Amino acid sequence: MPHRHLTTEREPAPARRIAASWIELDTLYYAALLGLAVFVWAMFGIVTRTAGHLAAFWPANALMLGAMVRFPMLANPLSWVFAALGFVLADLASGGSFHLTMLLSAANLSGVAVGYIAFGMVGEEDRRLARPGSVLNLGLVAAAASAAAALTGAVISIALYGGGFGEAWVFWFLTELLNYMVILPVMLTLPRGLRAVVKGGARRAAGPVAGWDLLPAFALAASGAGAMIVGGPGAVAFPVPALLWCAIRYSMFTSCLLTLGFAASSLIAIANGGLDITVDVHSAQALLSIRLGVTLIAFAPLMVASSMQSNVALMERLRFLANHDPLTSLPNRTAFGERATQALDRLVIERAPVAMLMLDIDRFKSINDTHGHVAGDRVLVAFARLLEQNVRERDTLARMGGEEFAVLLSACTAAEAAAVAERICRVFATTPVEIGHDRRLEVTVSIGVATAWQAPPELGPLLMVADEALYRAKQSGRNRWEACDYIAAGSIG
Ligand code: GH3
Ligand code: MG
Ligand code: MG
Repeated sequence: MPHRHLTTEREPAPARRIAASWIELDTLYYAALLGLAVFVWAMFGIVTRTAGHLAAFWPANALMLGAMVRFPMLANPLSWVFAALGFVLADLASGGSFHLTMLLSAANLSGVAVGYIAFGMVGEEDRRLARPGSVLNLGLVAAAASAAAALTGAVISIALYGGGFGEAWVFWFLTELLNYMVILPVMLTLPRGLRAVVKGGARRAAGPVAGWDLLPAFALAASGAGAMIVGGPGAVAFPVPALLWCAIRYSMFTSCLLTLGFAASSLIAIANGGLDITVDVHSAQALLSIRLGVTLIAFAPLMVASSMQSNVALMERLRFLANHDPLTSLPNRTAFGERATQALDRLVIERAPVAMLMLDIDRFKSINDTHGHVAGDRVLVAFARLLEQNVRERDTLARMGGEEFAVLLSACTAAEAAAVAERICRVFATTPVEIGHDRRLEVTVSIGVATAWQAPPELGPLLMVADEALYRAKQSGRNRWEACDYIAAGSIG
């Protein structure tokens, strides 16, 4: 029966209408969720305020901005309304005056709005922190958002505590910048679900988790403890080497999370005296210096982690290209050699049968000559997809070069291999290949089958037997398969 999937395009996934109409139930639900999150995080900021100061750790703005960039379904007017409500209600609930509440909410929302616009100007890759330069762009976005929030913030600060505009602006700016720089990376690299974090998401390298994978995290905890014990102005920098180690070993998201943990715990420990840096931490100059210092320290692991991430992505791409044929994306001859040898090794131990198919498209040169190379390429891709659909998961297939393909059928008897070869010949011959401009081509393939009731240890002789069978198939008219028993061919014993 002809394969109907070959030329039909996949149905597009049912598109979810997102921002088209902002009164849709989904939109309402997510916007309300965002509003609630903003409320909770604003409350968190308010309750951790130290007496006489506005909050030093204010995660709500960065969380809101990060959520809107990471989850585009939140980017609609209703989300802004709910988030604004979240800010206002949190301040009112904690006893803030109406005027102050309005001003603080205006400062927060203006920063988020400017950050959101600035994010629209950087590339998609930067929004995922996927390039080494992404962290610098993130810094610029965070600076723009912080600068905007600090305009209103400075007015509030002067009204509450007096002082000059410049000093008030710088103070607000640096505090916002710190919050954005440590929270935004976590939000931007947030995996899709908890399962993605647990399933290999935490580490940079693939493979089983080993005990020493925890070493960088232990080193970070130990250097944090060391900072608390030793104290002094230099103690803030103690965790830097461990942070960099974590950035090298762990995934981008985990590194961002640890950097956030470092910044938050440093600030809290300094504020409550747990980390005694032997300076008057309540002086404006010291507060500024600490916040700027922690922000700049955070840049280091973030930059290392994002450049590691882009290197890993590049390595994966190179590894794929080294093992695959770029046209059909099938494994190439090199990869086939390795994979088929491994499969044979297993089959030898299991004393299982094996079959090798060598497949060569018929009169392919004349397809190129008559219809052009592009048409020839389409035939190759169509045949590759047909092969994938007609072998099992555990079989090993490859494009060996030109219009030649090979398949190692694991634990497959001679009769089963014949059935597979017959099916491939029949399906390919009866499924015309779309070659563009509404033209279809009928193409055939010849197959040589080498069978062995017990898998031999070497791949080479098996390939040779399949090649000889292929030659016979070509000689006897093409669009057919010929089989040869490996042992009868005298290749072993
Ligand atoms: P036979 O039935 O005996 O197999 O004849 P054939 O024409 O298929 O065999 P031949 O080996 O003479 O021709 C193979 C052709 O495949 C020659 C080469 O130009 C073409 N070819 C090799 N690689 C590619 C490719 O990637 N794309 C395209 N379009 N053609 C390719
Ligand atoms: Mg050929
Ligand atoms: Mg050919």
